[in-house]
Amino acid sequence: MPTVPLPQVRPSHRSESADSRIWLASRSVMLIALYYAVGLWGFVFTPDPHGIPLVWPATGVGLAFVYLYGYRLLLALGIATLLVTWQFTADMMPLAEAIGLVMATLAGVGLGAWALRQFGFSPRFERLRDVALLLVIGGLSASGLAATAGAWGMAVGMEDLRFTDTWWLCWMADLMGLMLVAPVLISWLGAGGGGRAFDTGFWRPAVLMGSLVVVTILVYSGTLDTALAMPLSYAVFPLVMLAALRCPTPITTTLMLVAGAIALSGTGWGLGPFADAGLERSLLSLNAQLALLVLTGLVLSALRSERESAEARARQHLDELSRAGRLSTLGELSAGLAHELNQPLCALTSYAHASRRLLEKGRLDDLRDALAQLDSSAHRAAETVRQMRAFAAGSAPEKIPFAPEELIRPVLDLLRPELKRCHVEMDIDVPRGLPMVLVAPVQIEQVLVNLLRNAMEALGARPDGRIRIEAQELGSELGISVTDNGVGIPEERLATLFEPFATWKSEGMGLGLSISRSLVEAHGGRLTAENVQGGGARFRFTLPLEVPDAGA
Ligand code: ADP
Repeated sequence: MPTVPLPQVRPSHRSESADSRIWLASRSVMLIALYYAVGLWGFVFTPDPHGIPLVWPATGVGLAFVYLYGYRLLLALGIATLLVTWQFTADMMPLAEAIGLVMATLAGVGLGAWALRQFGFSPRFERLRDVALLLVIGGLSASGLAATAGAWGMAVGMEDLRFTDTWWLCWMADLMGLMLVAPVLISWLGAGGGGRAFDTGFWRPAVLMGSLVVVTILVYSGTLDTALAMPLSYAVFPLVMLAALRCPTPITTTLMLVAGAIALSGTGWGLGPFADAGLERSLLSLNAQLALLVLTGLVLSALRSERESAEARARQHLDELSRAGRLSTLGELSAGLAHELNQPLCALTSYAHASRRLLEKGRLDDLRDALAQLDSSAHRAAETVRQMRAFAAGSAPEKIPFAPEELIRPVLDLLRPELKRCHVEMDIDVPRGLPMVLVAPVQIEQVLVNLLRNAMEALGARPDGRIRIEAQELGSELGISVTDNGVGIPEERLATLFEPFATWKSEGMGLGLSISRSLVEAHGGRLTAENVQGGGARFRFTLPLEVPDAGA
């Protein structure tokens, strides 16, 4: 037996764990670098001798990373917080308090990430709920704990600081940073947000970003007079609103971050409309405006996503409905097939029985007739199936010119055994020489079979049961009617008689008339029903003549 050399496979768990170590290391380095960068940026806005930053995006970076990549990132977050605290607050905060700040940040971020997962927060910001969750959880746990530890550390280190005032400043700085940074990181890195961002094309986000950068640089570069720069600072709102309504969420969050970064940097350097009131107050009022901007952008974006998913649900519902519709059409079709096949199959059985009897009695001439009928019934069954298949496939059957009496004769042949059994007297008034009609013959024969069977059933066991078939030229059409002197149709049934499954018989299917009407209408004719005076019902249908009468 030939042996197949197996490739040397390294144990997969080793490569997996190596991969996951590389993955963890790369995410940790990203976190530390980003945390350090935004921490550094936060201290650019140190407003007073105590060095409390008025914008602190670092906690938002930590929350986004730990939420997205798990608690394993807490170690990296601890290192980053320690690094930043040691570098920027060493001269303001005693070591014990600095360690307390690190621990509080870790606890706040860990708790925040846990709560976001616990409450089913979605990184796509698809629901208003997601916006509310991020702000409430971020504000309460991540920012709340970090601010408490920060304020406490500062208050211990500097005697002239009141804890409550410091806490308030720290909390606002933290929450503002979180509102600007966390949505960008979460929407880009979470749940494939980055890939979806490009669905919208390049130009719309590019134009929005370009306009936003131009407007904010103009406002916060100090070139404009405050009277003009202040109202112009609100121009970012329509741009962010447009992005929220027309672009994926990551684009909107990025626009908000860019607007915030330019506005905060300008104001931090004492430029722009908010700079006049002194750094602390000006940054606080700018923070209020930015918080509103972020809230507007996130809320609108979530509302748009909610509307889009409602539309998607509605579309899916419609799809399901149309699938159900197709299935029910299939059900009707198979019920119709069963109905239409019933007649030729019954005829097949009775002609087969008759043939055996005739053979036993040696009546070979009659046997030849019966076998011919058997053959034509089998042919009719096969033709019915073929036409139903063509109907299901949506193709129209071929119509050929046909003499009216030629349509009626095979039907009478087919029903002869039943008519005989029921002792029904047939009255045929189909003059020879009537103009030809353009029909698919088997379909019109099916209509006649259905009408005649109904008439026989309406007659029941009446001894004087009579059915009359009439054909006459009516302008450009041929009119055919089937009249019986049976029970007639109760008035209240007339309106729904032709609807599928409308039946008043214990073993009826309620399909004969609905199929017949569809077949007649497919020929461009009409099928109607009425009661006749003296009792009984009349069904009439029309068919187009092959060559419409010129004189009509
Ligand atoms: P089915 O015969 O299976 O009930 P049809 O669609 O052929 O289904 O007929 C629907 C109903 O119309 C019948 O149940 C019957 O009540 C009524 N109907 C049809 N033809 C006649 C007739 N010639 N006389 C009286 N009632 C009729």
